Amino acid sequence: MAERVIIIGSGPAGWAAAIYTSRANLEPVVYEGAITEENRLQGTLPLGQLALTTEVENYPGFPAGDLETYLDSSIEKSKRKHMTPHQKEGASGPELMELMRQQAVNFGTKVVTDDIVEVDLSSHPFKLKSLGGDEVEAFSLIIATGARANYLGLDSEERFKNMGVSACAVCDGAVPRFRNKPLVVVGGGDSAMEEATFLTKFGSKVYIVHRRDEFRASKIMADRALANEKIEVKWNNTVDEVLGNDEDGVTGVRIRSTVDSDQTEDLEATGYFAAIGHTPNTGFLKGQLEMNDKGYITWTTPQRTYTSVEGVFAAGDVADDYYRQAITAAGTGCMAALDAERWLAAKGFE
Ligand code: NAP
Repeated sequence: MAERVIIIGSGPAGWAAAIYTSRANLEPVVYEGAITEENRLQGTLPLGQLALTTEVENYPGFPAGDLETYLDSSIEKSKRKHMTPHQKEGASGPELMELMRQQAVNFGTKVVTDDIVEVDLSSHPFKLKSLGGDEVEAFSLIIATGARANYLGLDSEERFKNMGVSACAVCDGAVPRFRNKPLVVVGGGDSAMEEATFLTKFGSKVYIVHRRDEFRASKIMADRALANEKIEVKWNNTVDEVLGNDEDGVTGVRIRSTVDSDQTEDLEATGYFAAIGHTPNTGFLKGQLEMNDKGYITWTTPQRTYTSVEGVFAAGDVADDYYRQAITAAGTGCMAALDAERWLAAKGFE
């Protein structure tokens, strides 16, 4: 028997969709992703990108700071039994994701720790296959598989993954090989600033290698990085090669000037972190939905989460290369749930 709603993905979009569809008694099934080495390396483990961050300062409802004083002056004690005035740092990403997951489970969401690796959207109900061998059918689908961090595509990046090459400083930064050693971050956006600043807690020095002479990052994050004494920017440079050997892993990074292509420099480093943007996790769809030129699913109707296939809805970063925030992902997850619920009702699949 086909499920009424299958949700693929377990970031804020997936859980928001699950909370809403379970409260609508649609008994959703969430394929939250498989726990595999490949998923770990490419940053696609269950709970998504937010589970790979530390503090989340911009998700409404989880402020940092001295809330006790603020709350005492703003709302009387008897009315604030759910408020937690002891937080000093807002929410942590992993915590926030576990709470969203639990919230969905509390309303009856079934969670399967597996990847959907194949879908057939050409007939209805839709057919899905999982990595673990499940073959399931669904009347409606909500795709919320998010996006993952990019690498430059160098052979040497591949060779030293797990041996000093990473795309997630927060996940890997604290391991011994990076302590008190020089490290390299490539990129010039907010991610690069965030990763480099975070890595200064561990490394003796952090180089940011950027291909232009100005950052794409927001001013506040760029200023924070530039003001950090441990950070040195290698402007107008790209990475030629990650240097290393089988025994020691990464030992350095060869950079090449974008102004004078004959000029290279070898930076000594035990870690190399790629922070050069993201790719949507849409490979398993094999082009069965309309996508934009970067591979993000296209929302086909303004203000709706409809895709090019009726009954298939998309939410979160997998369909959004513009806002890419936890709050917008959760918002579009909610929208997808309501869109799916209404579509199922209109088609009589209640
Ligand atoms: P991004 O803004 O797209 O920046 C990617 C950076 O990588 C750019 O500086 C780009 O250089 C560089 N790059 C891309 N391909 C490259 C290549 N092949 N070789 C060398 N350099 C390359 O990506 P992001 O930093 O991941 O940020 C994505 C979104 O998330 C943004 O909207 C950002 O504001 C947001 N974000 C926010 C926070 C926060 O607020 N805490 C943290 C992280 C991310 P060019 O500049 O030359 O194109």
